[in-house]
Amino acid sequence: MKELSRIALAIEPSATMAIDSMFKQMKADGLDVIGFGAGEPDFPTPDYIKEVGIQAIQNNDTKYTPSVGTVALRKAICQRLKEDCGVEYTPAEVAVSNGAKPCVYVALRALVNPGDEVILPAPYWVSYIELIRMVGGVPVVVEATEAEHFKITPEKLSAAITPKTKCMILNNPSNPTGMMYSRKELEEIAKVCVEKDIYVISDEIYYRLAYDSEEFVSFAALGEDVKARTLLVNGVSKSYAMTGWRIGYVAAPAAISKVIGNYLGHCTGSPSSISQAAAAEALSASQETVEKMREAFEERRNYMVERMNQIEGVSCIKPEGAFYVMMNISKIFGKELFGHVIKDADDFGNMFLKYGKVAVVPGTSFGAPEFIRWSYATSMENIKAGLDRLECFLSGKEV
Ligand code: PMP
Repeated sequence: MKELSRIALAIEPSATMAIDSMFKQMKADGLDVIGFGAGEPDFPTPDYIKEVGIQAIQNNDTKYTPSVGTVALRKAICQRLKEDCGVEYTPAEVAVSNGAKPCVYVALRALVNPGDEVILPAPYWVSYIELIRMVGGVPVVVEATEAEHFKITPEKLSAAITPKTKCMILNNPSNPTGMMYSRKELEEIAKVCVEKDIYVISDEIYYRLAYDSEEFVSFAALGEDVKARTLLVNGVSKSYAMTGWRIGYVAAPAAISKVIGNYLGHCTGSPSSISQAAAAEALSASQETVEKMREAFEERRNYMVERMNQIEGVSCIKPEGAFYVMMNISKIFGKELFGHVIKDADDFGNMFLKYGKVAVVPGTSFGAPEFIRWSYATSMENIKAGLDRLECFLSGKEV
């Protein structure tokens, strides 16, 4: 038999999904485990959105749509981007696909030729590095330290750019760090991108989840010269608790959107007509429910950060957005727990699941080997119990 595609064989399985399936298996085996691995809101999709999905089925809105999405949805996206981010796009500049994940892929597809370098600030969302490889790009990982609040500096960005650099992926607010760039920080980064002529894929999927009344700034809103090189990715998964509906979008200058549209036309056909109807409702109806969810996340973040920093041996900085906390475990390395010396974050993750009955995600796969990612997209009750278990685990008591 002939060999399989080398590009496909080089793709690593998703680490977050691996932990999640281990956790689900333990649960199915009847064990009392608590999961902090999930990258999705624990809230159900709001009823008024579900209702429109049901109506779409009943009204026979069940056919192919344009490959880049219905005009109604693309208009609703443009309106929301204008209201929330102060950026103006026309429906022709927007392409809808089955979630933000394929939008990042197709954005990379539109930009990257084999061998082109793509700058990826670490800690990074696991899928980015694989998506870059899938399109034949070369990931250039630039570390942003905890002391730098996990944000890439203009100096580091500038130093990483070579004649082969095509673009950078920026995720703001970030998964896994929860950090959010200020307007000034973004302006400094944008200046480098314009001067050095590189594109930016700006993944703003968590933009609605910003805390402490901090202003979220879209990269595309930084000026026309910046917008001209920005491929803005967003979607309804996180803001409206619609992960299973699979609707995301990419907004970009018309010449780029056209290429993206051609690509999608051949590979996905079109996103689900039913989900598109529901997503249009989510974006155009009152945004009150979104705000309620945001408030709940903020309360959970506050509790988690405060508790975590009171526990001996671990610490975290306060994230400004999304629903993740990065716990620094470097002080634990070399310590013995349950007869085993903890060597790295993977070790910690496995031991914590086995003896602490808590599932978290080791930072290894995010390019952050001294950290553990906790998602607080779970109930306050679970968060309290999870941190109690952390205390127990670290003092050598099995849960
Ligand atoms: N970007 C980031 C940074 C994410 O965390 C996720 C979900 N984990 C996605 C994109 C994908 O979102 P979607 O469900 O819209 O594909």
